[in-house]
Amino acid sequence: MIRCLLLAAVALCPAVLPALAAEPVLTPLVGQVIAAPRPVLGSDQRRHLVYEVQLGNVTAGTLEVQAVEIVDQGGKVVHRLDRDAVARRLSVGGRRGAEAADLLFGQFGVLFLHVALGKDDALPRTLSHRIAIRFMPANIDHVLTIAETAVNDAPAVVLGPPLLGKGYIAGDGCCDSIRHVRALLPLDGRFTLAQRFAIDWEQADAQNHLVSGDTRTLTNYTIFGKDVLAVADGTVVAARNDLLEQVPGALPRNLPLDQADGNFVVLDIGGGAYVLFAHMQPGSVTVTAGARVKRGDVLGKVGNTGNSQAPHLHLHVMDGPSPLLANGLPYVIDAFTLTAIDHAGTADFDKAEATGSPLTLTPVTPPQVMKGILPLDLTVVEFSK
Ligand SMILES: [Zn+2]
Repeated sequence: MIRCLLLAAVALCPAVLPALAAEPVLTPLVGQVIAAPRPVLGSDQRRHLVYEVQLGNVTAGTLEVQAVEIVDQGGKVVHRLDRDAVARRLSVGGRRGAEAADLLFGQFGVLFLHVALGKDDALPRTLSHRIAIRFMPANIDHVLTIAETAVNDAPAVVLGPPLLGKGYIAGDGCCDSIRHVRALLPLDGRFTLAQRFAIDWEQADAQNHLVSGDTRTLTNYTIFGKDVLAVADGTVVAARNDLLEQVPGALPRNLPLDQADGNFVVLDIGGGAYVLFAHMQPGSVTVTAGARVKRGDVLGKVGNTGNSQAPHLHLHVMDGPSPLLANGLPYVIDAFTLTAIDHAGTADFDKAEATGSPLTLTPVTPPQVMKGILPLDLTVVEFSK
């Protein structure tokens, strides 16, 4: 042991000697990852890592974040954000809509990150963040590497289809839409992001309409009343069935947090994974807490209850029974057919929902059968038994 120490051959006797840590240094920025990223294979055949880094300015002045490089355990840059990308992804105070590249004295921000890896690229074991900052107004540049995280290589949760039929479109899905992916909540004294991989499922008819006729009439929405299916065998841990439908067209005002999910089911599917099905029709929910269900069992009907402005099925997977106070987990659907993609983006989806205009869809020809894959944002799929 002494010889080992004398040679300073730390690598030869790692179990005996602690690594010789570099001297600690003061940093102008502190950072930590909110939850270790866990990959998921998306319908673009890439593996996606979606996670967040909380950054705090601990200097007496303003810091401009000029670039962020995400580096793996070997120092390889796997993703880079320039200043403009930072300015779109760093939410001051964690608040969606308050994005900026500058952090003022004492401010913190949450950087929402998305790394897309080739299907055959090695999964990084760890990720660190090499951050280039500029002290303002002195214009002094500095680079520091902080906020290392392990990458969780556990496979994504596997689900069956939550609905049956065709024309289902994955609204506000992974990985760069912002309503779910950035739905960070300060709960019980910490940030949680249960909806990181949530999808709002809606349905297009044969003419690509989400709604036909009066947009304030629930029954005019293609998806309204469709059966919501258990995506796996499991045990119901919570359910609600008594909330009335909202009038479509606008989100309800002043809705209490405990009514946000409307009529819902939380299903414990084992392995530490729980599934939320939200916004179902009043009186349609077929199960109560404690019920055992089988994959494919009908849980209720798609409605517009809770914090909802148009009939849809909100579905996400989380690591605990609370739909909000939990960490959102990636999941895949064991089989579906990809039939189209709305490349015109969320604005096109929103317009179709609000006005009845047809979605601008690009067909996938021939339709692609996908197995063990997460339908990404604004993909249109067909689910069959
Ligand atoms: Zn939703």
